[in-house]
Amino acid sequence: MALKNPYLADLMARVEKRNAGDAQFLITVRSVLESIEPVVEKHPEYIEKGVMEMFVEPERVVQFRVPWVDDGGNVRVNRGFRVQSNSAIGPYKGGLRFHPSVTLDIVKFLAFEQTLKNSLTTLPIGGAKGGSDFDPKGKSDMEVMRFCQSFMTELYRHIGPDTDVPAGDIGVGAREIGYLYGQYKRLTGDYCGVLTGKGLTYGGSLARKEATGYGLCYFTEEMLAAAGKSFNAATVVISGSGNVAIYACEKATQLGAKVVALSDSNGYIHDPNGIDLDCVKQIKEVRRGRIREYAETHPSATYTEGCAGIWTIPCDIALPCATQNEISLESARTLIQNGCYCVSEGANMPTVMDGIQAFLDAGVLFGPAKAANAGGVATSALEMTQNSQRLSWTFEEVDAKLKDIMVGIYHNIEGAAREYGCEGNFEAGANIAGFLKVADAMLAQGVV
Ligand code: NDP
Repeated sequence: MALKNPYLADLMARVEKRNAGDAQFLITVRSVLESIEPVVEKHPEYIEKGVMEMFVEPERVVQFRVPWVDDGGNVRVNRGFRVQSNSAIGPYKGGLRFHPSVTLDIVKFLAFEQTLKNSLTTLPIGGAKGGSDFDPKGKSDMEVMRFCQSFMTELYRHIGPDTDVPAGDIGVGAREIGYLYGQYKRLTGDYCGVLTGKGLTYGGSLARKEATGYGLCYFTEEMLAAAGKSFNAATVVISGSGNVAIYACEKATQLGAKVVALSDSNGYIHDPNGIDLDCVKQIKEVRRGRIREYAETHPSATYTEGCAGIWTIPCDIALPCATQNEISLESARTLIQNGCYCVSEGANMPTVMDGIQAFLDAGVLFGPAKAANAGGVATSALEMTQNSQRLSWTFEEVDAKLKDIMVGIYHNIEGAAREYGCEGNFEAGANIAGFLKVADAMLAQGVV
């Protein structure tokens, strides 16, 4: 879709020139600018005062060398990144991703999305993202520790509890956060809430581990309820088997659904009897194994190599929780043909743009990532609050706050979509609602 507003079309052309080759970042910026066209027409001051110019340029991009020594004594070098996209509404906040697919383009796109997502949580946090092309898979604990220490030895000078507070993401779980935190403390001598997703013995929050998956289900439940539907007795397919997927599976099951499939980057399992989540937790959280092992102990389940086939399994509700671009247009069409009536994104940008359009055209309820998976970062902000107060809330307190936030996000984006003439398009509603708060804060703070 072309941008109709001449100023935004020109701005996009300049963003393309300046970020040539950053395909994922450009797709994301274009999609957000398309959604907010009616907003800037109503608020010309965002153009006149330079807010749009500043909004599409990250405040700071840091790229650095991460040298470390493997168990064989060989020197290895990875690349580290931190992109601080926007601090208009609070200190930068966003996860760190360790995966071979990490590039500056991917981190820039994630940081840009994070700014809008964090705005939707209603909490005072700006947007950032970081990571490395390091692959923790197959590395020993000591190798992961040495890598994390080297990564933090550079990163520590760019972060702080009131400037930038990273968290986990793909490949960065409790183990990595622990090693990163230890090194930050050693370098600075400060015992502070500089990372979230910490262990419970050193400042972590109860319910942070569960938050993204649970939050996804709370958001989706509210979206379903408004359409007269629910998780109860629904058949659900979830991709991934990491942090988000496991706790989405747990909550969806608690809400009465039958989850029949999960995956990892090698393939997927289909268990028509419903996934035995205790077994998945053993494989993934305890043994760091592969999802195919599930089928070895569950005769009712089949394992299939390759990821895309998971979307051919008939389901009522699909929750993509692995990675970006995992639902192609073809997969979207297959889901629609098989009667899927709701797709809600646990991963960041798992559906390609054409796929989103196909869902919207077919009347499928579509929960966009920046709204549906905001529960993780929202609970991270709650961890920051607890750290500042030197207090720990109970699981129930955190979970209740998380649920309130996710329900609030649904109503906020639904209302924004209605107000700006795109009722039912929650993708546009999320972009609009997220942008408005950031833009007003930027306007108030001037040219900075
Ligand atoms: P994990 O590393 O815990 O799990 C990722 C899962 O996705 C694993 O099962 C992994 O398989 C699979 N996966 C990764 N890359 C690919 C790929 N290229 N193709 C197919 N499968 C793949 O990460 P999280 O669960 O934390 O994150 C999942 C998604 O959710 C990401 O998009 C992340 O940005 C997003 N997210 C996470 C939040 C959080 O709080 N953790 C918050 C908000 C969003 P394998 O084990 O084989 O690599």
